Amino acid sequence: MKKVVIGVDVGGTNLRAALINESGKIMSRKSRPSEAKKGIDFVTENLINLINETKKEKKIYGIGIGIPGIIDSSTGVLTQAPNISKVKNYPFKEILLNKLGPDIPVILENDANCAAVGEWWIGAGKDVNSLIMLTLGTGLGGGIILRGKLWSGVNGMGGEIGHMTIDPDGPKCNCGNYGCLESFASAEAIRRMVKEELNDKNLKTILRDEIKHSSIHDIPEIVGKAAKKGDRFSIGIWKTVGMGLGIAIANLTNVLNVEMIIIGGGLSNSWDLFFKFTTKEAKKRGLRAPMENVEINKCELGDDAGLLGAAYLALNENR
Ligand SMILES: [Zn+2]
Repeated sequence: MKKVVIGVDVGGTNLRAALINESGKIMSRKSRPSEAKKGIDFVTENLINLINETKKEKKIYGIGIGIPGIIDSSTGVLTQAPNISKVKNYPFKEILLNKLGPDIPVILENDANCAAVGEWWIGAGKDVNSLIMLTLGTGLGGGIILRGKLWSGVNGMGGEIGHMTIDPDGPKCNCGNYGCLESFASAEAIRRMVKEELNDKNLKTILRDEIKHSSIHDIPEIVGKAAKKGDRFSIGIWKTVGMGLGIAIANLTNVLNVEMIIIGGGLSNSWDLFFKFTTKEAKKRGLRAPMENVEINKCELGDDAGLLGAAYLALNENR
């Protein structure tokens, strides 16, 4: 009989869990609000309830959980998680094992690392052995697969490509540094750029009217629509996003000479608006030989990349 695991994606808004088999087939799904703003204890309780509900359906081989934060792989401690309140050195794995029991192994991994594993397993990267995935969501997450293995650093804290410096004089990032990739290529960055630039009364853009009655959450999508209508200011924002990615991709390719870079996350839906700037910038800055050997592709699994990657890690854990 095929092994079945639970893959979980812990998001700032929702928790999603799925039963997934060895072929990567999603057999059923469940979700519930994460209540991340109330604090990590609420997230943990919701997570345990969701796993217990999902567990009833089948005999489970393991549980893989993708988390938006930095986890110390040797201790299972969640050291920081910007989108979940009250997290500082939270002993996540220990708490989960206490509540779920010791019978089923639990794997915790950063969500962007899980997405990279998912795309490598059965998505855009299934035919290559070495790739880097950039997940463009609220922030920017990175995941590195080298020779068929996730490389998350000696303590599991690596792959933080979003905090690679792109411009030393750039805007301040949530991490405290200035000019990180995340402050150029993420939903949060687009919201910031729009807000700052619209202060200039002389700037002509249809965005001013289009965002008047919408929520701040929808701004990246509205900037996408405005760019498609030919709004120069909006096109310029996607150019900034694309160029930031291009600089990062040139650096990453020069250093790691991977076969593929995959771009995923919500903003990848605007691929047509930023990608030409990305390739142009990456080619301009990268060394010729490694750049000739790398493909830059859009993700294939969408929102499910993280769930599937977490499931893969649970299926293939050494025990
Ligand atoms: Zn940063």
